[in-house]
Amino acid sequence: MGDAAPNAGRSLALTTPIEDVPGVSARQAGAFRALGLPSVAHLLYHLPHRHEREEAEATIGELVPDHVVSARGEVLSTRVSGRPGKRRFEAALVDDTGRLDLVWFNQAYLHNRIKPGDRLRIQGKSRRSARGGMQVANPRWTLIHEDRTEPAPVEARLRPVYPASEELPSWVIEKAVGGILDEALALIEDHLPEPLRLEREVPTLREAYRMMHRPEHEDEAREARRRLVYDELLLLQLGVQMKRAHHRRVLHAPELPWSEAIDEHVRARIPVALTEGQDSVVGEIVEDLGTALPANRLIQGDVGSGKTAVALYAMLLAVAARHQAAMMAPTELLAEQHYASITRMLEGSNVRLELLSGSMAAPERESVLARLEAGEIDIVVGTHALLTESVRFASLAVAVIDEQHRFGVHQRARLREKAADPDSMPHTLVMTATPIPRTLSLTVFGDLDVSTLRGMPPGRGEIHTRAIEGVRAGEVYDFVRERVEHGEQAYIVVPAVDSEPGSKGGEGGSLKDVRSMVRRLEAGPLEGRRVAGIHGRLKRATREHIMARFRAGLIDVLVATTVIEVGVDVPNATVMVIEHAERFGLAQLHQLRGRVGRGARAGVCVLVTDEPTDDGRARIDAMLATNDGFVLAERDFELRGPGELFGARQSGAAPFRLAEFPRDMDLLLMARRDAIAWIERSPTLDREEERLTRARLMKLHGASLGIVDVA
Ligand code: ADP
Ligand code: MG
Repeated sequence: MGDAAPNAGRSLALTTPIEDVPGVSARQAGAFRALGLPSVAHLLYHLPHRHEREEAEATIGELVPDHVVSARGEVLSTRVSGRPGKRRFEAALVDDTGRLDLVWFNQAYLHNRIKPGDRLRIQGKSRRSARGGMQVANPRWTLIHEDRTEPAPVEARLRPVYPASEELPSWVIEKAVGGILDEALALIEDHLPEPLRLEREVPTLREAYRMMHRPEHEDEAREARRRLVYDELLLLQLGVQMKRAHHRRVLHAPELPWSEAIDEHVRARIPVALTEGQDSVVGEIVEDLGTALPANRLIQGDVGSGKTAVALYAMLLAVAARHQAAMMAPTELLAEQHYASITRMLEGSNVRLELLSGSMAAPERESVLARLEAGEIDIVVGTHALLTESVRFASLAVAVIDEQHRFGVHQRARLREKAADPDSMPHTLVMTATPIPRTLSLTVFGDLDVSTLRGMPPGRGEIHTRAIEGVRAGEVYDFVRERVEHGEQAYIVVPAVDSEPGSKGGEGGSLKDVRSMVRRLEAGPLEGRRVAGIHGRLKRATREHIMARFRAGLIDVLVATTVIEVGVDVPNATVMVIEHAERFGLAQLHQLRGRVGRGARAGVCVLVTDEPTDDGRARIDAMLATNDGFVLAERDFELRGPGELFGARQSGAAPFRLAEFPRDMDLLLMARRDAIAWIERSPTLDREEERLTRARLMKLHGASLGIVDVA
């Protein structure tokens, strides 16, 4: 089709290159390609991000401000003004009804193109000028030639506004789309079955694209968007459900039997009596793990609610059944801490526990890898790198992923590669202190079950939160000193490791950093006290050593970056000072605050702020308003949207082209329901009438969901 001879009644194909689109010059073609639009199909799928109302052409006297207006008239006078480098060209346009001031910035050359006496047609955004008249800045313009017929007046319409570039303004894209739209639309096939389409009251794909590029009114643009968002969500949901159905048919996990004897044995290993909340989550996990269906469960519990003990229960259940378990933490420091605390808990047992760390010496590391594969290690603790590296297990039954809300369907596929049997998959438990709105988690994580850990273990102190301006930070250090004199310990969190010389040196706005903060405190407010710094750039052994000393009470004040964000547990630490608090995310602030109030004594969290933005201010206010992590998560969701929650965001690909949350939540629920019903009827979408749906779904999500092998 695309090979037809040039010019000779060539027909358009979706694959027709941009160079061959009518009205696109060779020079423009390069700009189209640079914008990611190399073909007709790309042009068609390049959707306007909004539409702008254009008024019908009017006489100058009828023009109203703040609209996209069209008018025509005669140029009364012109002039160039402004200083060199900031020159502008001005023209006064008149008709029988009034005068319109036109101004073009940085286009003094127009002086040679537009002359008094010319007739012009212009279009642009109107506004009231300082002098009270009407003005249009940077209008689009055309000369009306006397010897040609007078052009017809512009009619009112909705103009699509496209994502554009400097070289390629929206109106050039609009023109190119206009040149292909009707022909291209005729080539579009709909993948949505007619009955479903009618039931959902969405337009055909062809109609949707037409209404998106050339809507007749606002309702059409809205309706088109609805169809395309629904499509996007439906295709992803179909992929997720298809994969889920496949898993249910094919994949299996080790069954981990439960009995009272095993329960007793496992509990004897955990040095605390589980709370009611922990017991109830353990109950749900036990049920999951007892079947051959790989569990995929999110355990959400506020900071300090005791998720580790719950995870340990699950891992010991695996060990009791002679399988292996892995625990993954987001940072080395946390992995080390989990390793240390699990080592303490398991003291005297014959459970074989190892740490696999990035900073391990090669021979040591090789040995751990070899023993994991040989089944000579029962529980391994490491970072999330355990997932990505070529770590092999003899029989991994339980994978615990701690404090990680970015663990999406895509990453989960990796766990399968960990077992010798390709159809075997460990039970997966994801633990997070950042609750994920349920509906959202269902989409992103696929078939995720959620347990909520309620309540707190006994013996936890209260936490009081205060905010203070940076200029008064001195008072905070005095307060820290006072608490230290009472035998308590403190954290001071700063955003940077060291001040980068040459960057913002000397400026008032530079960030506090670990190194200079330690020096400053030792020399001044905390003189004579034991102050140490800790950050991610230190060697593991050094960090371990510092943490051990802090835990043992040999350090009074720990100046840290957010390496201590999650999980660090020192009950005697009662003060958390967060410098530049406005720069941290809400989840991060709450996590940091959770480091104190872990013992019997009340904790204090001081948020030191410097000129927060509105968003920063809103986060600080939320922190002052509540200690409840679930409430904060909701607030965070409102402030930020769910973007950060998506695994895909991390791997670079935006998860959705069009859908936005929470705006499109109803469409998501609808798409999910429809996908579940559809896959129930036709688990692999291999009927003839589903060919197109399946092809589009595979193209979009096949590789990332790992469903290429389903057939
Ligand atoms: P998080 O949910 O934030 O990971 P942790 O698992 O670190 O919380 O637990 C927080 C603290 O509570 C730890 O010091 C832990 O030993 C303690 N803890 C957990 N469960 C209990 C319990 N049932 N009884 C008493 N203390 C507990
Ligand atoms: Mg934890």
